[in-house]
Amino acid sequence: MSVTKKDTTVLQNFINGVWVSSNSGQTLNVPNPATNELLTKVPVSTKEDVNQAVAAAKEAFNKWKKVPVPKRARILFKYHSLLTDSHEELARLIVQENGKAYKEAYGEVQRGIECVEFASGAPTLMMGETLSGIAEEIDSEMFRYPLGVVGGITPFNFPMMVPLWMFPLAIACGNTFVLKPSERTPILANRLAELFSEAGAPPGVLNVVHGAHDVVNGLLDHEDIAAISFVGSQPVAKYVYERAASKGKRVQALSGAKNHHIVMPDADMDKAVQHIISSTFGSAGQRCMACSAVVVVGDNEPFVKTLIKKADELIIGNGMDDEVLLTPVIRKEHRDKVLGYIEKGIAEGADLIRDGRREMSDHTEGNFLGATIFDHVTSEMTIAKEEIFAPVLSLLRASDLDEGLEFIRKSRYGNGATIYTNNAKAIRQFREEADAGMLGINVGVPATMAFFPFSGWKDSFYGDLHVNGKDGLNFYTRKKMITSRFEA
Ligand code: NAD
Repeated sequence: MSVTKKDTTVLQNFINGVWVSSNSGQTLNVPNPATNELLTKVPVSTKEDVNQAVAAAKEAFNKWKKVPVPKRARILFKYHSLLTDSHEELARLIVQENGKAYKEAYGEVQRGIECVEFASGAPTLMMGETLSGIAEEIDSEMFRYPLGVVGGITPFNFPMMVPLWMFPLAIACGNTFVLKPSERTPILANRLAELFSEAGAPPGVLNVVHGAHDVVNGLLDHEDIAAISFVGSQPVAKYVYERAASKGKRVQALSGAKNHHIVMPDADMDKAVQHIISSTFGSAGQRCMACSAVVVVGDNEPFVKTLIKKADELIIGNGMDDEVLLTPVIRKEHRDKVLGYIEKGIAEGADLIRDGRREMSDHTEGNFLGATIFDHVTSEMTIAKEEIFAPVLSLLRASDLDEGLEFIRKSRYGNGATIYTNNAKAIRQFREEADAGMLGINVGVPATMAFFPFSGWKDSFYGDLHVNGKDGLNFYTRKKMITSRFEA
């Protein structure tokens, strides 16, 4: 059965290897952001649904943890091949429910597949450490073990990549998993679960429970959940971190962002503009690594002029159209909030040098907003401080790199930051002093690949171990030390 068929009116949860309807009678609509046509409905599942999923995952864990690691990895190899065969289909589903451009959705599927590639290395990743002779005739060994049932809570903006940051590695390490996808992009999650099951994952190893706050709280409070991986907005990340940690769970909570790009006077301006346009306006600015503030160092009016010219050339529309770069934001309510930020920017004295609101009347069918650019924004203004998560860019002015770095230091967020320059001294100073977790040198979206850790600093992250790479491995495993005496 394909759960992604158009005739499916209410999505089902995936518990213990079967599709089941939620106990709740409540549903939420899932519209296509480009057309606002109804795609499907998602159940607002209850704590009872969560309890069933956790019970299934707990039961499955008893067997799954004993499955030899290479055998677990083989299921991931098979999953990799199924995802690769479904690359285009998955990308289309992303465009449909998230609204981003097909090319970006295709890239997102690729990033997700790379996470499965990384997790497939579990036999090597999970190797422990040994030391012969820590004392006379005594040796020590370290083994890695899974934690138990892990809960994953994901956002709308990467419906494929973010769940795949979590469950393939967690499951490869021997854990079982309950995924709560975003209620705004739930369709792909079911397809991911369906393919995982087809790859040979036993019932209960991966479960999907749809819904909103009750499902999240059900996971955070459940005594049989050992760890929580969360990705979403800052207030929710902090809440999730505090509530789950207070129950003694291991937590990683990736949060919001405000990513600064510093344009030095010596930068290749055409390339800098090209990267900034794509980083700021791609996926309608709804990426945690999107550029949302540009620090223009020196009096660089040609840069600002070229930026506006390129923003004027952006084609707005449905992500299935090849030409389109500027796609809709996720919901009308979100766009209303963004319009409020634009009003606030004007009221607080920023110069609105490109007003994307004018393009709204030509695109009334979906949640569109044209490229919006403010100049002479100061760090005290609301639009400089808060994450807007939309195609809205702030230009800040600095006389030198020190002043530029000060904008980054003042920001409560520290997910990513980029510098455009060819000056070695500036690059080194930026690398040493920019307090953000992922830096780019002439790179518009410095997102790391699956074998490196991914996350930010300051209020962009709560926890200790980031997702992916060795951090991900350490997050999803616990260590056991064995000390042995070998007396004659
Ligand atoms: P969101 O916080 O609204 O939702 C994330 C998840 O939390 C969803 O599953 C949602 O159902 C749940 N949730 C929302 N409000 C809740 C509440 N009050 N109580 C309990 N659960 C709640 O985030 P979003 O709008 O879906 O995603 C966009 C946000 O995610 C942005 O802030 C973006 O920066 C962030 N993000 C961060 C990263 C990163 O790597 N740091 C990556 C992707 C997205």
